Amino acid sequence: MPEVDYDIGIIGGGPAGSTSASYLARAGLSVAVFEAENFPREHVGESLVPATTPVLRDIGAIDLIDKAGFPRKFGAAWTSAASDDIPKLGFQGLSHGLGAAEIEFNERDQAGVLQDYTYHVDRGQFDLLLLHHAKAQGAKVFEGMRVRRVDFSGDRPVIHLPLGKKDATVTVNMVVDASGRGTFLGRQEKIKVPDPVFNQYAIHTWFDDLDRTALAHDKEKADYIFIHFLPITDTWVWQIPITDTITSVGVVTQKKHVRAAKDDLDGFFWDCLGSRPALRKALEQATQVRPLKTEGDYSYGMKEIVGDGFVLVGDAARFVDPIFSSGVSVALNSARLACKDIIAAAEAGDFSKPRFATYEQTLRRGVRNWYEFISIYYRLNILFTAFVQDPRYRLDVLKMLQGDVYDDSEPPALTAMREFVSVVENNPDHLWHQHLGNLSAPSMAAML
Ligand SMILES: Cc1cc2nc3c(=O)[nH]c(=O)nc-3n(C[C@H](O)[C@H](O)[C@H](O)COP(=O)(O)OP(=O)(O)OC[C@H]3O[C@@H](n4cnc5c(N)ncnc54)[C@H](O)[C@@H]3O)c2cc1C
Repeated sequence: MPEVDYDIGIIGGGPAGSTSASYLARAGLSVAVFEAENFPREHVGESLVPATTPVLRDIGAIDLIDKAGFPRKFGAAWTSAASDDIPKLGFQGLSHGLGAAEIEFNERDQAGVLQDYTYHVDRGQFDLLLLHHAKAQGAKVFEGMRVRRVDFSGDRPVIHLPLGKKDATVTVNMVVDASGRGTFLGRQEKIKVPDPVFNQYAIHTWFDDLDRTALAHDKEKADYIFIHFLPITDTWVWQIPITDTITSVGVVTQKKHVRAAKDDLDGFFWDCLGSRPALRKALEQATQVRPLKTEGDYSYGMKEIVGDGFVLVGDAARFVDPIFSSGVSVALNSARLACKDIIAAAEAGDFSKPRFATYEQTLRRGVRNWYEFISIYYRLNILFTAFVQDPRYRLDVLKMLQGDVYDDSEPPALTAMREFVSVVENNPDHLWHQHLGNLSAPSMAAML
């Protein structure tokens, strides 16, 4: 057996990579993180859910994050241009009408979460803090170091890194791929599959001095994340506080809409916002402080997320639409789950694929719950807002919105929503049939 340079080599120093590094270093393993960029670097994905809190606590970073001054996120709100005339069909407690809803995290206790808020974060700062924290736990961090190839043909994985015109090589017992949507091993090993349903595209930027109350039902809750539904098929806007005055705003829509407008993204962005005139007006009165940035082709899965000598975590393992702010939570929780198996594998001295089966099953189950939830939301978003407001389902839906998705095989509210959507789909005379969206997800069990 060759000597190894490190027990574990991690590709990528975003939240999934740095959290994995912290867990593994705290367990006494030698860990190297190879990150292509020099931090801080900008990144999309700024609104967290409370399921991140237990992980941040586990790795000893919660105080660091809490004291960093990120705006606290106590809840989430949805608004739409839907008319008040949509029939309520026996749903109870619809105080906002259909299309709108609000939740507060303090309505439901969550295991391991002692605070009633999570955070909105400037990802440049958040990711930097977590990477420095990993270093403080004992991980070696190499920034500006893009992994070129991992050779799995020998007894141990060998990571190839650029060193002038040649490659430097690092031998490890196993590799954690946390390369995000770069999906390093997914592409190298040809195990990445595009999502057959979601083909979304996002255009986003930051504004200074936006009046966040412009579309808020409850002006006191203007610092929640807002999801504003636009009267354009499968299109919505996020509004996320970044500081007291800076707000992140992004339009998410189908790629085909963006393709049609490719020569004038700026015009497309503002036209979309114009479909909710009060929102556009508020944004016009604010100051755009970053150029528009686009993110495309981001929904995919992997045929395998574990193998002999490797696991994939975070976006490197799976990506679904960001409508419920699930991404960083999946990154942190996948790191948590994967590291449990990795630490056990290290103790056994065996890094073969079966060692990571528990991780694979649990992550796939959690992501399947997110995926189904998101699919149903796109298919019939007024149903989601009816379920959120109806006291019979509210806490069960809130559980998913908190990111608490890894225990149940399927939360009961999800089953009830799926059955309801099926009734609406199969009856063209149903009073909600005309409100169905275009994205229709077949069973994703094979890919998830
Ligand atoms: C439009 C949009 C909106 C979103 N909104 C939200 C939101 O509100 N809330 C939320 O929680 N999530 C959101 N997300 C998702 C979120 O951005 C991701 O889920 C999260 O960043 C995943 O973290 P990660 O560590 O897996 O990957 P990343 O944060 O992408 O980190 C991966 C790192 O790997 C590095 N890397 C890549 N290739 C290599 C290589 N070959 N060698 C070395 N390093 C490499 C990269 O430089 C990067 O720093 C959104 C995503 C999109 C696209």
